[in-house]
Amino acid sequence: MIIKMKRQATPEQIEEVKQRLYELGPYEIGDIVGTERVVIGVKGDVTALPEDQIRELSGVEEVILISKKYKRASLEYRTQLNHGSLYSRVDVGGVTIGGDELVVIAGPCVVESQEQILTTAKYVKDAGAQLLRGGAFKPRTSPYSFDGLKEEGLRYLQVARKEIGLPVVTEIMSERQIDLFEKYEVDCYQVGSRNGRNQELLNALRSVSKPVLLKREMGTPVEEYLLYAERLMVDGKENVILCERGITTFETFTRNTLDLNAVAAMKRMLTHLPVLVDPSHSTGMRELVPLASFAGVAAGADGLLIETHPDPRYAKCDGPQALLKEELHLTIQKCREIYALVRTSGFVSPALH
Ligand code: PEP
Ligand code: MN
Repeated sequence: MIIKMKRQATPEQIEEVKQRLYELGPYEIGDIVGTERVVIGVKGDVTALPEDQIRELSGVEEVILISKKYKRASLEYRTQLNHGSLYSRVDVGGVTIGGDELVVIAGPCVVESQEQILTTAKYVKDAGAQLLRGGAFKPRTSPYSFDGLKEEGLRYLQVARKEIGLPVVTEIMSERQIDLFEKYEVDCYQVGSRNGRNQELLNALRSVSKPVLLKREMGTPVEEYLLYAERLMVDGKENVILCERGITTFETFTRNTLDLNAVAAMKRMLTHLPVLVDPSHSTGMRELVPLASFAGVAAGADGLLIETHPDPRYAKCDGPQALLKEELHLTIQKCREIYALVRTSGFVSPALH
């Protein structure tokens, strides 16, 4: 962190800033005395330093942060750890996300019956997806919409997991559901876009050993989103997966706007965490899901989260964006080709200069 003092700052004011920093420390503090002004440098972990208090001191012009506020989630943190690989690999029930293979999580928006989830799991696996999704607890805008089978839904997912052999990703909406999720052996806890700001939920998930898939909220700038990921990681949790699912813009033709820039920026510049793209909620239209999937992979995504339904005409949620079985198969196949192309281009890792 750098503190730029005002040109007219007095030696007493400079001393007061240093004293305050020593109190807040332990920090190494040094200053550069220029011809016009003094700049104070602070070395050490400043993530918890109350910057606003420093800004309030007399003689201070500007407080400039050098490292990211999302320290543990940042790409530079991973580089400093010297972990061997630049990017984190996250294990989900034996499937590696962020490794050498594109990972596809597919399934219905919501678990509707045992038969529905078993049928879907079977064809999802045949189509080449490695993980099964399906909501048991569904956040809905209208209180009259179907909001999931709750515990029964988790039980159906557990049966599908055992019979078909695909690890399960499903959404958790409250910290009170953690015990149920453990009971039904959920492999990955999804935090939906409406819950990224749910501080209590994120705090509680810090101590869960299973990976957390944190979706970006539709109105959250990307660096703020990474701070939500940081919240999960502050006590040492490492298995966190990110997912761009479309943001709100002035566009109304599609359900949301897929922020491909954020995907590329996260991979190349901002974070070591695996990044997924959800082409289903970002477009809201089956017709657009294959192309949006291609674009997501081309932007550097490590995987995709895709909704599919055996018969969307009867889907209880998000039918219009559910891919049909054959479309899912073809989309995954083509995405693997694009993935290979993008990963050998040398443009996914940060530029070396
Ligand atoms: C979902 O993936 O089922 C979902 C509800 O998505 P989002 O939280 O991104 O709206
Ligand atoms: Mn959905």
